[in-house]
Amino acid sequence: MKYLLVTALAVLVFWLWRHNRQAERDAAQRENMPRPRPAAKSLQATEVVACDLCEVHLPRSEAVTGRKGLYCSEAHRRQAGD
Ligand SMILES: [Zn+2]
Repeated sequence: MKYLLVTALAVLVFWLWRHNRQAERDAAQRENMPRPRPAAKSLQATEVVACDLCEVHLPRSEAVTGRKGLYCSEAHRRQAGD
């Protein structure tokens, strides 16, 4: 009878442990799922380059592209002789 009680207790503890792990895994999955999307978005939006003339940092989308490099404005591209 004593062994039966110990076995039942062991099964109960094992079941509770598995149940908790499953819940933790579900919570982790729910937390991790939306993360990659905003990370990829912010990486694209915050790509920063430096002007080759004055070294001002600006988003790549706003930089003026010359043959020799990137500039903060059309005036600096001309000033650099590009
Ligand atoms: Zn500049």
